[in-house]
Amino acid sequence: MVEVRLENLKKYFDGGKVKAVDGVNLTIKDGEFLVLLGPSGCGKTTTLRMIAGLEEPTEGRIWFGDREVTYLPPKDRNISMVFQSYAVWPHMTVYENIAFPLQIRKFPRDEIDKRVRWAAELLQIEGLLDRYPAQLSGGQRQRVAVARAIVVEPDVLLMDEPLSNLDAKLRVAMRAEIKKLQTRLKVTTIYVTHDQVEAMTMGDRIAVMNAGKVLQVGPPTEVYLKPNSVFVATFIGAPEMNILEVSVADGYLEGRGFRIELPDDIMEILRPYIGKGVLFGIRPEHMTVEGVSEMSHMRRTVRLRGRVDFVEALGTDTILHVKLGDELIKVKLPGHVPLEVGKEVTLLLDIDMIHVFDKS
Ligand code: ADP
Ligand code: MG
Repeated sequence: MVEVRLENLKKYFDGGKVKAVDGVNLTIKDGEFLVLLGPSGCGKTTTLRMIAGLEEPTEGRIWFGDREVTYLPPKDRNISMVFQSYAVWPHMTVYENIAFPLQIRKFPRDEIDKRVRWAAELLQIEGLLDRYPAQLSGGQRQRVAVARAIVVEPDVLLMDEPLSNLDAKLRVAMRAEIKKLQTRLKVTTIYVTHDQVEAMTMGDRIAVMNAGKVLQVGPPTEVYLKPNSVFVATFIGAPEMNILEVSVADGYLEGRGFRIELPDDIMEILRPYIGKGVLFGIRPEHMTVEGVSEMSHMRRTVRLRGRVDFVEALGTDTILHVKLGDELIKVKLPGHVPLEVGKEVTLLLDIDMIHVFDKS
């Protein structure tokens, strides 16, 4: 087990035209489960490949504890990697697949046997050891890939969207299993995904990436409650946070055809912005509709008149699209909501859950 430190890590491709990773500073604690979260193309895989030693950085350094590994070949790093494409070898049995990394490392035969059975048991595939990958389901193959990764007891476990080829139900189940396995093994883990739900449910901390840079690092609830930018705010949470252009006045926010009254304490914080345009953010789950759904945890609410524009009934929840002046805002309510398009409603906004971002 080891702490991983990335120091101003950069990877440019095509003579500098593609800045895949653009100055990442990040410390992953010993035994931590860190999720690298970001949209496709933001540099997650490239970052992971540099940590694995599969890609040489353009600039910057990588440390495993006190040991600099920036230019070490993968075999000298004691890491394991699990890919999206399970990459189990079709011509080998499950047993041989899991044993393979131990054979390369020249473990004695009885130690190999012990470890293969240990890993297979952890992944609940003891009964499949004699099968070939073609005789396995996608989920079972992914278990083999994970077993093969942990069998060497790596210092660092790297996972690149390992669940994205599984169907939705299996993905949810494996999510919990991988998390439990990691908690048990306490292996420093860096897990790449573009799925914010995976990030929220699995990570001890989440590092949100965009365009080659890490924008924010923190525990899931912190990133959810205190996003430091519109990008992070809208990337975490679904449906995404409402972002509206407003200007700050003395006592209220003025939007296009609506006004949000502010309590004195919040107004004090926003006082320096009076006369300026800002971006106002509120999550769909931090509002409700008067007379329809009350939220007991709402401490202070502000009322806003609107009109129902569209209703998405999801069964467990209902997403209302509400016309607010010239804007549309999404409101998430639990369960079925007996409201129809065109209905006038009063929204109750949890005023302590609002966000204000600089326009830029
Ligand atoms: P992610 O895993 O977040 O989807 P990647 O790390 O795969 O992103 O890619 C980041 C950026 O670097 C993308 O614009 C991608 O096209 C580019 N890229 C990745 N690998 C190479 C390469 N070998 N040559 C040129 N460009 C690359
Ligand atoms: Mg990728």
